[in-house]
Amino acid sequence: MKAEPMQTRYARQTVLKEIGQDGQHMLAGATAVVAGLGALGSNSANLLARAGVGALRLVDRDIVDWTNLQRQSLFEEEDAVQSLPKAEAAARYLKRVNSAIRYEPITEDINPGNIERIVTGAAVVVDGLDNFYTRALVNQACVKHGIPWLYGACLGTYGSAATIIPGVSACLNCLLPDIGQATTPPLTCETVGVLGPVAAMVAAWQSSEALKIMVGKKDAVSSHLVHVDLWQNDFSTLPMTRVAGCAVCGQHKFDLLEHGSRLATASLCGRDAVQIVPPPSSSLDFDLLRQTLGRIFTLEQNPYLLKFRADDHDVVVFHDGRAMVFGTSDPNAALSLYGKYIGG
Ligand SMILES: [Zn+2]
Repeated sequence: MKAEPMQTRYARQTVLKEIGQDGQHMLAGATAVVAGLGALGSNSANLLARAGVGALRLVDRDIVDWTNLQRQSLFEEEDAVQSLPKAEAAARYLKRVNSAIRYEPITEDINPGNIERIVTGAAVVVDGLDNFYTRALVNQACVKHGIPWLYGACLGTYGSAATIIPGVSACLNCLLPDIGQATTPPLTCETVGVLGPVAAMVAAWQSSEALKIMVGKKDAVSSHLVHVDLWQNDFSTLPMTRVAGCAVCGQHKFDLLEHGSRLATASLCGRDAVQIVPPPSSSLDFDLLRQTLGRIFTLEQNPYLLKFRADDHDVVVFHDGRAMVFGTSDPNAALSLYGKYIGG
């Protein structure tokens, strides 16, 4: 294969006076975290890979499902057939787009036990998440470590985004205090739906802001929260006011980063499913589990997980003991099934 010189591949970008060769070199030395690889994260990871960011840390807890293909631009039918983890499927796709980038796929639930490791060394964190608890966790980790992050959310035909630069701009807690305490949002993409182009638009905005930061042009980022409704053709901006005494960016209280020690559950947005996350201190003998379950059930496997059907539910177990129980949104039913077949 003939190698493409950097000048050729990025010619339309380096000729931009806003980026130039210097900006391109800065980009090549930067690491970006894409947290969540749904519609927002897929589109952002695609844009950042093509722009030539040096390393992309791709984080998602889920596997590719047929309902993802309508709007999640990194995934293909075969990924759903193989039940591939989204992080692995995304890295596989993007390697074909830009092989010069270092990809770090991470198939984990973002939680207090791993978030600080995930953001370490990153120039930016791009929000592709589907719930406000995890966004609040990312906000605390990014403020604590001084890492800029790009909030983004979409639902139905509308979306919003904001650039958060710790110590400079308002943080997510300034905008939405105590949002991390909310368990489940009242509306989800499962019940309301998502228009694919809205996600692409929000992700484009986030990625553009991420590029500004990575090429050293932080002064060019927006100081406003942007809101768009593509069906209503409504575009608006709201000023972001930093709150004096904000618990997170003012007082540096990072309560969500405290480690939990129990099995945690969460209903997954867009899926009739419950996720179960073992505490960071636990360990699972995955091979033993595979042997044990293999005697009772027909197992589907790939290098990242095993899948079986028990008590009318599809169950996926990852190597770290994390599981997803499909066909229910009841945490207790999922915990009961987990206890019965996996342990804990
Ligand atoms: Zn704040």
